[in-house]
Amino acid sequence: MNDAMRVVEMFYSVQGEGQYVGMPSVFLRLSGCNFRCQGYGMPVGQLSNAYREIDPRQYQSLTELPVVKTGCDSYPSWDPRCQHLTQKVPVDELANALLALTPERNWRTTTQQAIHLVITGGEPLLGWQDQIAVLLAQPSMCSLRYLSFETNGTQILNLGLQDHFNKQSQLDEVLFTVSPKLPNSGEAWGEAIRPEVLAQYARVKNASMVLKFVVQSERCFDDICKAVDAYQEAGVICRVYCMPAGADEISINKIAATIATLALRHGFAYSPRLHVDLWNNAWAT
Ligand code: SF4
Repeated sequence: MNDAMRVVEMFYSVQGEGQYVGMPSVFLRLSGCNFRCQGYGMPVGQLSNAYREIDPRQYQSLTELPVVKTGCDSYPSWDPRCQHLTQKVPVDELANALLALTPERNWRTTTQQAIHLVITGGEPLLGWQDQIAVLLAQPSMCSLRYLSFETNGTQILNLGLQDHFNKQSQLDEVLFTVSPKLPNSGEAWGEAIRPEVLAQYARVKNASMVLKFVVQSERCFDDICKAVDAYQEAGVICRVYCMPAGADEISINKIAATIATLALRHGFAYSPRLHVDLWNNAWAT
């Protein structure tokens, strides 16, 4: 096994979305995704090419790259043209680097505040599961108690990672924040909505799960209800968050109140994108 991971960025910030909004969290963004989500921010049936209009070779660091307003706003995590902006890091070094980002070089502060680790992407469970198991077993991770995956919910867990969680893990919680890709993403339903995958995540020791849908308009709510029904039929029942689509404050603010009102009508929770409010979706926030 090659114990190194391709890292797009790592940083310490507040969790901006979902169940743990506001939590102090170290983020690890891994490279690679099975989707492209070119439908976000576009009229129905059209795909965005905004990322293709950027030439990543002109940029020497991720922070210089423009944030796109349509399509996937994490495109450097899967666009092969951005690979020079990412880094392959041996897992032991990575564990130390993540710990060094915590305010007191410990996943728990002296005032007993837990610092969360959020593994995101791209799709972090696509190609890195063996390495994630090795990463979590490093000595620098021994005080970690709260781990989240930000995943699109399409990748089955392999035996190595399941074994780690079920037999070796000291974690109090493994939160799967699943953001299923609805037709507004431009991805196909049959590939994006995989109830059997979520049913497997739910069986992990100390697992919890929330669904976080990226919502563009009222039209998305029928799709959300259909997806939630499909997950429930597989035995997956969890809190549903609706989060307004948009990569900047202006586009989010245009639809935020409408999405919140519609979410409430269905008994769903609303998720802000706090990091966009605070830092307008800059890299490393
Ligand atoms: S699943 Fe997430 S990272 Fe992958 S293309 Fe879609 S929005 Fe981007």
